[in-house]
Amino acid sequence: MAQRQTRDQRRYQTSVVIVGSGFAGLGMAIRLKQAGIDDFIVLEKSADLGGTWRDNTYPGCACDVPSLMYSFSFEQNPSWSRMFAEQGEISDYLQRCADKYRVREHIHYGVRFTGAEYDESANTWRVSTADGTEYVGRALVSGVGALHIPSYPELPGVETFEGEVFHSAEWNHDFDLADKRVAVIGTGASAIQFVPRIAEQVARLHLFQRTPPWIQPKPDWPIPSSWQRRFRRTPMLQRIARAALYWLLEARYVAVFNRRLGKLAERMSKRHIRETIKDPKVRAAVTPDYAIGCKRILLSSDYYPTLNRSNVDLVTSGVAGVRRRSVVTGDGAEHPVDAIIYGTGFHVTDAFAHLGIVGRDGRKLQDAWRNGMEAYLGITVSGFPNLFFLLGPNTGLGHNSVVFMIESQINYVLSCLRPICRDEVGQVDVRQSVQDSFNAEIQSKLTDAVWSAGGCRSWYLDENGINRTIWPGFTWKYWLRTRKANPADYEITAGESR
Ligand code: NAP
Repeated sequence: MAQRQTRDQRRYQTSVVIVGSGFAGLGMAIRLKQAGIDDFIVLEKSADLGGTWRDNTYPGCACDVPSLMYSFSFEQNPSWSRMFAEQGEISDYLQRCADKYRVREHIHYGVRFTGAEYDESANTWRVSTADGTEYVGRALVSGVGALHIPSYPELPGVETFEGEVFHSAEWNHDFDLADKRVAVIGTGASAIQFVPRIAEQVARLHLFQRTPPWIQPKPDWPIPSSWQRRFRRTPMLQRIARAALYWLLEARYVAVFNRRLGKLAERMSKRHIRETIKDPKVRAAVTPDYAIGCKRILLSSDYYPTLNRSNVDLVTSGVAGVRRRSVVTGDGAEHPVDAIIYGTGFHVTDAFAHLGIVGRDGRKLQDAWRNGMEAYLGITVSGFPNLFFLLGPNTGLGHNSVVFMIESQINYVLSCLRPICRDEVGQVDVRQSVQDSFNAEIQSKLTDAVWSAGGCRSWYLDENGINRTIWPGFTWKYWLRTRKANPADYEITAGESR
């Protein structure tokens, strides 16, 4: 542990408190170490690190961004076994990163962050946790991400159901699905990965689709060991492959704004439907009626063929309620089931609402975000000095790797943390006018974009229909803007060493 940390009856003092040990929190911790800053603590609510890739263990869970890109640029992994690695491999990768960069000793496990209050007289954040331990840090970095609070639909009568119920992000591996009748609710990114796997085991699978997603074939294949050897021997080769992939993924963004390219992508997806689904009624049912890109475009080569199976039933009449042993649909039909699995996603635009964060002058983050969450570059929020969000508002992507966004944010945050940790700076607080004009700029791009105008409703939009999740542009533009914080954007007070 860093020397400046002192343990004083469940109270820790440190320079930087990081919340979460997924890609974001872990990446921040590693980069702090590399910058020679050792005085930090990572709070992790679970007993292990890894975030999303620890929690999501459902069958078939895998990355839907090629692994060469879905990894840290400073720790490229020559041993990815497939183009799109599965959960276990990504989780192992994160574990190896924690070991290699010696950040494990900084992680406090089983510590659930419950809130933080800024003390302006001392320029510190007082962080409270579920077990009463207090952490005091000069800076607070949130690496909690937006896809970690499972969303459970409110189905009338579900409390009377006598079978097994669980969410894809809280998979019950003790429940044997073999020969069971199973209801799967939702057909999003998670469901399309686990449905093909469980369909092989269950007696009957009733798949309840509310809105069909656009799905393209997944260009997934094993990476031959000869290539893994080449990547190990010549790291430059892997860097070139990664760069090529980066620009290929970046090009996907063009299709989002170019309707002609969007139409072409829709035609390709419809061909995928025609080529893989036999029943014309099922083909019609899975064909979206909104513009491609409006919701996340999904990749799968085995989801549509699974719908041809005689034990799989695609149900589109809407879930009306649940009885003791069945799910009832809007048309009055009763579907007898032994288990219900929710593939219903996560709380996203309200993901930060539960965080009890209180900034300057007692201002609550919930109040600051009453009309929707917003930050400057998705990282800093006016009135909340020395608080930094990784994967904050409007930094999600539909076309490239969020790890690239995380790394850009870490660079930016590091440029603020260095002077704070050296005591040269007391506090940095983004100017409200800077935050406002940034958000006006991105919202002007988002208003007419496909996510809002494409004819769908998705978790990209908040309850007022405003897009609070997506970065509306190329990721290299984001990278350019986040290479270093511009002091002119901030109100800065001097630290004690000045
Ligand atoms: P999701 O994409 O939000 O899908 C949720 C599904 O549940 C949708 O089909 C939705 O229908 C349906 N649903 C929600 N509430 C419902 C209700 N009350 N009744 C009926 N259906 C309901 O969630 P997810 O599949 O868990 O994925 C979430 C995100 O996690 C993804 O978009 C992606 O960013 C990430 N993810 C990534 C990977 C990866 O490989 N990297 C894998 C899995 C997930 P509607 O469309 O009608 O709302």
